[in-house]
Amino acid sequence: MLKQGRATRPASSETQPDQATVSGNRGLQLEEKLIFELDSPGSCGVDLEEPEVFENHLGGLERKEEIGLPGLSEPEVIRHYTRLSQKNYAIDAGLYPLGSCTMKHNPRLNEKMARLPGFSDVHPLQPESTVQGALELIDTVASWLKVLTGLPAVAMSPGAGAHGELCGMMAIRAALEDRGDPRRRVLVPSSAPGTNPATAAALGYTVDEVPEREDGRVDLAALEARLDRDVAAIMLTNPNTCGVFERDIVKIANLVHEVGAFFYCDGANFNALVGRVRPGDLGIDAMHLNLHKTFSTPHGGGGPGSGPVVLSEPLAAFAPFPWVVHEGGRYSLREAAEAEGAKSFGRLKGFHGQMGMFVRALAYMLSHGGDGLAQVSADAVLSANYLLARLQDTLSVSFPGPCMHEVLFDDRFLKGTGVTTLDFAKALIDEGFHPMTMYFPLVVHGALLVEPTETESLESLDQFIEVVIALAERAKAGDAEYFQAAPRFAPRRRLDETRAARRPILRYKPPAARSEAAE
Ligand SMILES: *Cc1c(COP(=O)(O)O)cnc(C)c1O
Repeated sequence: MLKQGRATRPASSETQPDQATVSGNRGLQLEEKLIFELDSPGSCGVDLEEPEVFENHLGGLERKEEIGLPGLSEPEVIRHYTRLSQKNYAIDAGLYPLGSCTMKHNPRLNEKMARLPGFSDVHPLQPESTVQGALELIDTVASWLKVLTGLPAVAMSPGAGAHGELCGMMAIRAALEDRGDPRRRVLVPSSAPGTNPATAAALGYTVDEVPEREDGRVDLAALEARLDRDVAAIMLTNPNTCGVFERDIVKIANLVHEVGAFFYCDGANFNALVGRVRPGDLGIDAMHLNLHKTFSTPHGGGGPGSGPVVLSEPLAAFAPFPWVVHEGGRYSLREAAEAEGAKSFGRLKGFHGQMGMFVRALAYMLSHGGDGLAQVSADAVLSANYLLARLQDTLSVSFPGPCMHEVLFDDRFLKGTGVTTLDFAKALIDEGFHPMTMYFPLVVHGALLVEPTETESLESLDQFIEVVIALAERAKAGDAEYFQAAPRFAPRRRLDETRAARRPILRYKPPAARSEAAE
């Protein structure tokens, strides 16, 4: 879920931190081997009695060799995973200013609610009569999303934002096919996140890129020039990933509708608008909501996402199954065969969506209330503008402010210093900060996209600002080597990320087997 930028400089081959201690540990930061390297054959976390002699019915298909799992005692297993977890940076540890990802605090109240046995122990195949409360909860989250967006329908099952995009675009494709008007092109502005063009391409559409104006907003004339009756939809993020609001959005919606196309809005940045603007009023036909961003459910390594999609009237009939119906005081799930008049494009996912995320999101909505959610977006936008105001003379601001909930800088302030955006980000790690989003969006050079969210205190923002200013001054003073050697204090220094992504080693081979294989 987190954005990864491209490195402009090859990563250093140095992968080990300075080994100044006997153990390789550094303070209370412990080195950790792979679990297979910790293997002590024969040890086991549980005491199992020898099985009695039994007759197997596997017809010779039984395993003949050792299963190859490492042998460890219970404390060894616990320590292994605890040590690994301590190498992980998390929103619970500190500021996580990853732009466009809305890494906000996950309130513990949400967690408490999600762990209520009635929710956490529920099984998706239980009879409906035994899960009335769970269905009511799904229905209640759905109504909040409809009210907040001003749209009449919502598909709850998508498992993340990108999955929601797929869902919304499949509904659009189904609606077009239903009226005998399949189309081939989808318009995507150049600042769009990669998931937008990827979604359109995955559905067989040709992606037609629309350029930006000087102010980071869609070039309306260029958009109009591309619009014709072969365009199925536009996929637009608002506020966009340059951190600015697309002011012409109503005009864009009208233009798109005039040629019979649909308006898909990427709602990942809804944190800037929640409680203030209803996307339905802007002419949007479909939009996903990342419950794990706007509505504070855990994100990234913290848990599964959830990306419900709100739909306009013309798309509602094409929503995927299942959906919850409330009739005669009872809740039930509508599946394909039973729903009359529905032209659903089918099923998108097993079962009904991410139940635990629905519980957390509802806890968040109810604890804030409508007015509290409006306060969320106000504070998120205020925090980003505070960063903009305090950093604008030090970093280079890409587009004129004010910004929405995130602020975009580029690498012009590093020009001539020999320091890249990547080096700068690595130095932030040494200072105890997760870097901002780097090298995204692609419309500016060496992007640094910072999103503080409303859950950071003024003190925490000030601390971040002071570190960024000090580092920028250091870079400008000509200390490039300092940056190129960063991070010094992380468990690992610079990894060859490209090789790790392209040639991952997914199967452990003991060193003996590896040297044999090499011969
Ligand atoms: C996060 C994000 C997505 C994708 O959402 P996931 O839940 O990560 O799949 C899409 N668009 C934008 C602008 C995003 O920030």
